[in-house]
Amino acid sequence: MASVTTDSVLDRFRRVGALLEGHFRLTSGLHSPGYLQCALVLQHPTEAEACGAGIADRVRDLSPQVVLSPVLGGIVIGQEVGRALGVRAIFAERQDGRLMLRRGFSLEPGERVLVVEDVVTTGMSTRETIEVAKAAGATVVGAAAIIDRSGGQQNLDVPFHALATVSMPTYHAESCPLCAAGQPAVKPGSRV
Ligand SMILES: [Zn+2]
Repeated sequence: MASVTTDSVLDRFRRVGALLEGHFRLTSGLHSPGYLQCALVLQHPTEAEACGAGIADRVRDLSPQVVLSPVLGGIVIGQEVGRALGVRAIFAERQDGRLMLRRGFSLEPGERVLVVEDVVTTGMSTRETIEVAKAAGATVVGAAAIIDRSGGQQNLDVPFHALATVSMPTYHAESCPLCAAGQPAVKPGSRV
């Protein structure tokens, strides 16, 4: 499959309404000039497959033996990266607030793990997923995501690859520069 460039990834997102630019009131109540919803891209299996292949191209040199993703956002893209690399894909999920391997999933000591997510915002869930792999005795060779929206602040201690980087600050309504400019905020998904 053809390699996926940053521009083509963002085009895919825009085409399906997964990346909106304007002035948005997010579910959290914060305002932002951008809205990102990876699930709207990944609902299309051919798009998910292309993103998985694009990530696989960037991480193949790390020689991962298994892909590990956190639920829920990481499952679909983790599966596609695993497919493209020809390795298995497993996921970690929460029990009593702690991320862990369940369902009989396990990692061998020294097994080479790639952590995959759909979007990295603060890097917190990626770091938590890395800890799950380390606790199992595995070796984390890298982390990857479709979109890095951390502004380079992900602070991971393993090689990190993203198909695209977007800058998407969030503001409290009272200090939102877009509100100050008199631009009305809309809920993402509502037709304008
Ligand atoms: Zn605003």
